Amino acid sequence: MHMIRYAVFGHPIAHSLSPRIHTAFGHQLGIDVRYAAIDAAPEAFVEALERFAGDGGRGANVTMPLKEAAFALSAQLTERARRAGAVNTLTRVDGRWHGDTTDGAGLVRDLTARHGLDLRGRRALLLGAGGAARGVAPALLDAGIAELVVSNRTPERADALADALGEPKRAHSRYWDDLGNLGEFELIVNATSAARGGQGEFSLPFSITTSRTLAVDLNYGEAAIPFLAWARAANCRDVFDGLGMLVEQAAESFALWHGTRPDTDPVYATLRGHSAVLVTSD
Ligand code: NDP
Repeated sequence: MHMIRYAVFGHPIAHSLSPRIHTAFGHQLGIDVRYAAIDAAPEAFVEALERFAGDGGRGANVTMPLKEAAFALSAQLTERARRAGAVNTLTRVDGRWHGDTTDGAGLVRDLTARHGLDLRGRRALLLGAGGAARGVAPALLDAGIAELVVSNRTPERADALADALGEPKRAHSRYWDDLGNLGEFELIVNATSAARGGQGEFSLPFSITTSRTLAVDLNYGEAAIPFLAWARAANCRDVFDGLGMLVEQAAESFALWHGTRPDTDPVYATLRGHSAVLVTSD
């Protein structure tokens, strides 16, 4: 009989805090959680996942650049994963993987429940159209934002995401080079991996912000520094990194697998204490 295992798959994955978060949730609730980080390049992902299942793998989180591949291999999907076209949580059921996405719920919970912000009625700009952007877009619409503009370096992916959302009046794509002509946004979400690997500045026109803008980077740690520096320079009112979302999406996955929801506050506080990036909010 294999021991029940959990893991996060990604490429690269060495930076992942997920093993620490899930282990801390387990300690809190008296559950012995075996949770590892497994590096899998896209071409090796399916095989690595099957090997993991054979070794007792019962649940897997999936991060960049594998979320769309996880969607494609899921035998069953939740409604929110189907709308997102991306999967970050896989659960083994009767020898098959069931796919869900907890990214969007994690982001909205962090912004509303932890930081007390109201997203309703905001005009929003989503930068990026990869797995994370796909995961958060439907949840932002469900949270009551007025409009969602999706912009991506590769415009076809932004078009595909906007189309998949199926709300042409509220959600549409625009060219990145055109950002300066799109007016002001009260919510700007950076869902790109542009600053990973130590790439310098984040240069966006200040004209897209107002003094009421909430700017959120899904990245955390050093990868969040360029966008957060830009947002502060643009005088955005609230500026957050993705650490809170990371903890909340993990709690959502944990609840799916273990049937009980951990208290995220102590785990968030511990990680925040070690994080290099400060968040600011009036
Ligand atoms: P993907 O690889 O699926 O997508 C990457 C995205 O970044 C694409 O839109 C890509 O554009 C864009 N991009 C990459 N390089 C550049 C660049 N130099 N300039 C502009 N755009 C660029 O990754 P994910 O969507 O899964 O993840 C995106 C980021 O969000 C990651 O850094 C990840 O760590 C973070 N994240 C954080 C979470 C949290 O809980 N806090 C949860 C999920 C993700 P293109 O299509 O043109 O290649």
